[in-house]
Amino acid sequence: MPCEKPSPRSSRLPEWLRITLPQDRTFARTRDLVADLGLNTVCQGARCPNICECFARSTATFLILGRSCTRGCAFCNIGLGRPEPLDPGEPGRVAEAARRLGLKHAVVTSVTRDDLPDGGAAHFAATIRALREVVPGATVEVLIPDFQGDAAALRLVLDAKPDVLNHNVETVPGLYPRIRPQADYVQSLVLLERAARAGLPAKSGLMVGFGESMEEVHQVIRDLHYRGVTMVTIGQYLRPSKAHPEPERYVHPDEFAALADYGRSLGVPHMFCAPLVRSSYHAGEFV
Ligand code: SF4
Repeated sequence: MPCEKPSPRSSRLPEWLRITLPQDRTFARTRDLVADLGLNTVCQGARCPNICECFARSTATFLILGRSCTRGCAFCNIGLGRPEPLDPGEPGRVAEAARRLGLKHAVVTSVTRDDLPDGGAAHFAATIRALREVVPGATVEVLIPDFQGDAAALRLVLDAKPDVLNHNVETVPGLYPRIRPQADYVQSLVLLERAARAGLPAKSGLMVGFGESMEEVHQVIRDLHYRGVTMVTIGQYLRPSKAHPEPERYVHPDEFAALADYGRSLGVPHMFCAPLVRSSYHAGEFV
């Protein structure tokens, strides 16, 4: 069964962003397995450009806590809508999917649930525990929302001891009002610092191409390093649909390489920077 093109592609895309879509039966197997278990993935929800490659490698990033988000970030394809009731069977089904896919590294993320008192933190913790039980040999990475700065909610996740605590700053602080209006840059940094202080490997990422300067990106890398983040991903923003804003520019691969060099020069051990890098792209390689 062919892999479908994940999103509209502009003919003006530079060569380094043109994707060759593999035709692989494993893609369909991964997609069908996720559907059979009634799960969501951010790969599909966000129309990730890497979905063909990742699904063909039997890799996916599970999206828990429903399909509707309580925020409306400008870059994101996940729908803003009425939040769904929590599904208590979801953690077990995520673990079962990880088992059937043979995952060595499971990545779990969620929509933002500002409607829940703990922001969904207990559900994340339950998912981590289910994965530990069902796939004890796999490492677990969670890509969490900011829980509106609630330290007790974050503690629920930290106490479940994921192998990687990921939280994206997404863009430079000067662009938050336009790109991530309901979030707070410093609040995100504090979350990452709390994770690092708890002894967990802290990871964060951002997209470029929104109109930020390279000096602003350097400042974000410095901020992340200062807060104890040891893994940083930087990729090109691509609009997931024609309803989303066009990128202001396409950053050349050499500039991504320079950003990686800059981070390493500061002492950030894991810099993963390239046009198609996403927060969970090849995530297992960090661990
Ligand atoms: S990069 Fe992440 S979100 Fe995109 S397809 Fe791969 S696993 Fe899914």
